[in-house]
Amino acid sequence: MYLDTTHLTYPTANEFMLHTPLVPATLAFVEDVPYAAAFGDVYHSADGGLGQARHVFLKGNRLPERWRARQHFTILETGFGLGLNFLATWAALREDPARPAQLHYLALEKHPFAVPDLATLHARWPELAPLSAELRAAWPPLIAGFHRLLLDGGRIILTLVFGDVRDCIPQIDASVDAFYLDGFSPSKNPDMWAPQLLERLNRLAAQEATLATYTVSTPVRKALTQAGFACEKPPGFGRKREMLSARFAPRWQTTHRDVPADRHAIVIGAGLAGSAACERLAARGWRLTLIERHAAPAQEASGNLAGVVKPLISKDDNPSSQLLRAAYLFALQCWSQLGGIGRAFSGEACGVLQLADDAADEQVQRQIDASHRYPPEFAQWLDGPAASSLLGQPLKQGGWLFPRGGWVYPASLCEALLAACGDRLERRFAHTAVQLEHDGACWQVRDGGDTVLAQAPVVILATGASTALFPQAAQLPLQAVRGQVMHLPATALPELPVVVCGDGYVTRPSQGICCVGASYDFDGDPQLRQASQQENLARLAHILPDAAQQNAQAPLAGRVGFRTVAPDRLPLVGALPAADEAITGSRLRDVPRLPGLHGLLAYGSRGLVWAPFAAELLAAQLNAEPLPIERRLAEALDPARFLLKAYRRGDIATPSTSSRE
Ligand code: SAM
Repeated sequence: MYLDTTHLTYPTANEFMLHTPLVPATLAFVEDVPYAAAFGDVYHSADGGLGQARHVFLKGNRLPERWRARQHFTILETGFGLGLNFLATWAALREDPARPAQLHYLALEKHPFAVPDLATLHARWPELAPLSAELRAAWPPLIAGFHRLLLDGGRIILTLVFGDVRDCIPQIDASVDAFYLDGFSPSKNPDMWAPQLLERLNRLAAQEATLATYTVSTPVRKALTQAGFACEKPPGFGRKREMLSARFAPRWQTTHRDVPADRHAIVIGAGLAGSAACERLAARGWRLTLIERHAAPAQEASGNLAGVVKPLISKDDNPSSQLLRAAYLFALQCWSQLGGIGRAFSGEACGVLQLADDAADEQVQRQIDASHRYPPEFAQWLDGPAASSLLGQPLKQGGWLFPRGGWVYPASLCEALLAACGDRLERRFAHTAVQLEHDGACWQVRDGGDTVLAQAPVVILATGASTALFPQAAQLPLQAVRGQVMHLPATALPELPVVVCGDGYVTRPSQGICCVGASYDFDGDPQLRQASQQENLARLAHILPDAAQQNAQAPLAGRVGFRTVAPDRLPLVGALPAADEAITGSRLRDVPRLPGLHGLLAYGSRGLVWAPFAAELLAAQLNAEPLPIERRLAEALDPARFLLKAYRRGDIATPSTSSRE
């Protein structure tokens, strides 16, 4: 399928380097202190790692005092290493009765440790054992990019950014309250302390941000002073006479994102997108009113018996693949917090086998396997014989096994997400929102009889194919695509140990039924039709030829749904553009927005995977928290991208021409 991605800002050579395979850290010790031979330096002071963490990084940033009485607090660390500073911070947070509701910890790391090495290192601090065990259990596959982990019941949001600090810092979107600079000594690792890098930290500094490090090197202090930090040299840790502690005190005016004083949002649509939005916002203490025209959640595009949970692999690891990987890994995080697939909601983490299309495609996939070297817990390439033996069926081609993937019954997931909101959620089901009106401060949502259903400063449209009914969203280039899924009794197919995908997919049984899907039609017919069933049989034949033949005369059975897609097949996540107002420049931030009106739209056939991640991204935007993803990838999802593209093409008036008219 042709993907129109011409509007996207393509990564520079450096940004592409983010996605080359990582080189993990090699575990070594010198005089019983963890040591990095590649840098010729130790991971922490020989006088004690935990003591150094507490003295230099916590005390140097006046923590815990400074995080008290805060809703959320953000720390950024350069050099995560074995995570000792992180664990010391987490332990301090747990001990503090006046702790913030959420701690965001962003950490950059070029050479992450593998889990067994972390376990060896963490064993040296038994007092931190429960925390370090939880960290290792959530540790992501070693793949470059952002990995957001939810720890301590979601109180700790750890965003690990795997890659070189020089490539990663510009991609962070956050307002940082405390910086921990811990990148080996400047003489051993000058890249980490480059003046150009330190001078740019002010872009990330919140009002009254602080910073701490063990080095008092003159070039470091000079660069930080240049960036607007006022530096001091309090006593250092152990045998170090001094350390550096700094306060952001720029002589210039800084700008900051606002959070609505009344943290109340109306979500319209109780499918996967809307339910996940409620859960992610409720976890941040927001109040939600969920309006849904049906009497129950997941009745439209999210109404299938089974959806497939898998990432996407591509040769150039393009933005769609990067985003879907982040979304897939985050979905697994979120669902494990909810209680796990097959426990808190129905589905199975049985694994997914994605078969190559044909021999030529198999060749390409093998090359990807050789060049991308994905960790086996994320993706394993199985050649034809190995894939056949896994399936117990003869296969012509090999495929990718995603061992943590599987299938989920979306309606049960929606129920679990909404249940997790507790009393922060008000359900207004069997009510149809038809009109949105802004009174200068709040949105009023009315039904067809002009009754106000709800009123709040923030509205989130998770309305799938019905979105264009709202005039405020009518200009979005959304399209409904009909999808017919075929239902076969589980007894009509061989028992498969995994979900199998080719051009289509075959799931394991959900409520005794295997789903084979799905058609992709550009008409609005809601009825099941034989032609679509034949197409699905052809999809099945590509995967399991014998089973397709045996079911050639299966009665017409299944479900029709309408997924919504955008021209570039990526979702729309964020503030909706004010299409009637003049665009003031060529960047996304130059597109005026409708105040408080947001979208979670166009998830296509991948609603399960997109929903938690897109909801997290929007919740982070609304709450002025660090974004869970590279800035350039968040921009690729901006609902204003199409309008900006049209403006750049000259298809809509520039501010100067519009003022002349
Ligand atoms: N803060 C860590 C802890 O609490 O365990 C110790 C950090 S250790 C002193 C420095 C870390 O910086 C190492 O893990 C190293 O791999 C990382 N590092 C070095 N150069 C880097 C770079 N250019 N980009 C990102 N990380 C880098």
